[in-house]
Amino acid sequence: MSRQLTSLLTIAAACVTLASVPAQAAATKPAEKPAPVDCSQVKCIALTFDDGPGKYAGTLLSTLKKYDAKATFFLEGQYAKSRPQYVKRMVAEGHELGNHSYSHPDFTKLEPGAIRNEIQKTQDAVKKAAGVEPKLLRPPYGLADLQVSDIADEFGMPIILWTGGSEDWASKNVEAIKKKTLEVAKPNGIILMHDWVKQTVDAMPSIVKSLQAKGYHLVTVSDVIKGEGLEAGDVFPLPAGWEN
Ligand SMILES: [Zn+2]
Repeated sequence: MSRQLTSLLTIAAACVTLASVPAQAAATKPAEKPAPVDCSQVKCIALTFDDGPGKYAGTLLSTLKKYDAKATFFLEGQYAKSRPQYVKRMVAEGHELGNHSYSHPDFTKLEPGAIRNEIQKTQDAVKKAAGVEPKLLRPPYGLADLQVSDIADEFGMPIILWTGGSEDWASKNVEAIKKKTLEVAKPNGIILMHDWVKQTVDAMPSIVKSLQAKGYHLVTVSDVIKGEGLEAGDVFPLPAGWEN
């Protein structure tokens, strides 16, 4: 684990410039997949949905597909187990999966063995559902300490928090969720949302359209952290008082 302090300001400042993308020679290679988004060159944002797959995940996935937007889902293992069809669809449609524990306990109050068990059971449930294992960890409530960081290191995962919250779980109001999300949106931002909040899923078409109208590419967490050089056990973004 590196102990290097990362400057969030530098990251944000480096990403505000919208580089002009050369026009594709579309006529010559029509079948080729589009190049992956380079968030050091274009304006990116990562919407993240915690605690799912929630019961509205199907509607959310359809919205994301309609607008060609990618997201990251920090899944709870118990719901990956009970709603595997959504997990499978998330992977098939190009979204990223993260581990958000099996049953949402506060990791800072658990013994190491219990934390490992929560993480491993979720890795197993996701793998069983979709054939892949998450490579990112977001501990419940975003609460981590050195012990949690060491265990994340064992699993080879960085700890991903967020740069801004939609506060959807608190407001449960379509207009408030949209307003708050657009307020905290910033280049290479990581936004916390929940796909069990119906109003979040209802607000999503309007939120996605507004972000895209502002020039944002909606990408995965791995896309926005690509330039960070994060290692397993590192925390991003760094909370006050933390050093990686
Ligand atoms: Zn959560």
